[in-house]
Amino acid sequence: MAYRAGRHFLQIPGPTNVPDRILRAIDRPTIDHRGPEFAELGRAVLAGLKPIFKTAGDVVIYPASGTGAWEAALVNTLAPGDRVLMCETGHFASLWRELAGRLGLDVDMIAGDWRRGADPEAIAARLADDKQREIKAVCVVHNETSTGVTTAVDTVRRAIDAVGHPALYMVDTISSLASIDYRHDEWRVDVTVAGSQKGLMLPPGLSFNAISAKALAASKSARLARSYWDWQPMLTANKNGFFPYTPATNLLYGLREAIAMLMEEGLDQVFARHARHGEATRQAVRAWGLELLCANPAEYSNSLTAVLMPAGHNADAFRQVILERFDMSLGQGLTKLAGKVFRIGHLGDFNDLTLIGTLAGVEMGLALAGVPHRRGGVAAALEYLTGAGRADAKAAE
Ligand SMILES: *Cc1c(COP(=O)(O)O)cnc(C)c1O
Repeated sequence: MAYRAGRHFLQIPGPTNVPDRILRAIDRPTIDHRGPEFAELGRAVLAGLKPIFKTAGDVVIYPASGTGAWEAALVNTLAPGDRVLMCETGHFASLWRELAGRLGLDVDMIAGDWRRGADPEAIAARLADDKQREIKAVCVVHNETSTGVTTAVDTVRRAIDAVGHPALYMVDTISSLASIDYRHDEWRVDVTVAGSQKGLMLPPGLSFNAISAKALAASKSARLARSYWDWQPMLTANKNGFFPYTPATNLLYGLREAIAMLMEEGLDQVFARHARHGEATRQAVRAWGLELLCANPAEYSNSLTAVLMPAGHNADAFRQVILERFDMSLGQGLTKLAGKVFRIGHLGDFNDLTLIGTLAGVEMGLALAGVPHRRGGVAAALEYLTGAGRADAKAAE
């Protein structure tokens, strides 16, 4: 392909744009992963991740995509045939369910319309019905990347507590960690699943489990077969900053830099920045006269926005126009939503001008692809960022 001037806009909701500081950090010689210099790096990233997950407990790092960390959460804590409660919030929740089924778990899925988050009342009702306490885990996706809907993880925690059910609580934060407020310890999540390539601004290739004391205790007697994902040898080696097998050393250089950048900006400011860009995006979508996929305003995602295409128009044809004309990638509709929605990623290394460039690409694309809309989405976003949205940024300073 011929050179295209200017930078590519990678506005899918992950992988996200990798900032120069992280690229430079990764661009160093790989070192001996059993040597003293590595131990320092290992200890730094393992400790540095704790405030990101808001946990005082252990976080393990796998050289794997997020899917690996999904599997790790289940195989370390459960036994064949165990019942697991999941919620059909969208494509990613459905994939986690399929994975659990293939591992031999017996999954109860609370049906959903892919426009709402996990329903705390429905979860409480299923748990209350489970008099024999056969359900061993409740699994929810914090931010459903296929729909742009964020589940209230703390509300689900209270629902589990309200019925006094002992199930483990597992949460996928792959597209929310370091973009949307998340508290592993305070919300008493047992296993948090995360990945490197979204809010953490890294290339794909690392994933994480944050582990509660209760999950660790469950792992001692869990009977699902596990080897590569086993927490125990990982935690033992991690004590000295090492790993039981070759770690993704260069990605760990990047992770150390990402943690430093998040701490310099401050997590609260990072969350306020994402909230502001999420709101500006939604104002643009409304001004265009298009419909948000998320049906509940209390559950709008601050890391991405899924937009419904007007009937008779294909989202993929529209995305194709934008890719060809403006060198910008938008997220496609997944499985059931294929062709019906496009997704705007506004997470990671992102500022007002990247947002406005992104929205300008969408607005020009709507015109070029002949999608019925009103002009003025970009203007509405500008208005918000310099008006009502200016206060949000100040409040978090
Ligand atoms: C991206 C994503 C995944 C899948 O992660 P991979 O790194 O592709 O394995 C799972 N869950 C959510 C919520 C995601 O956003």
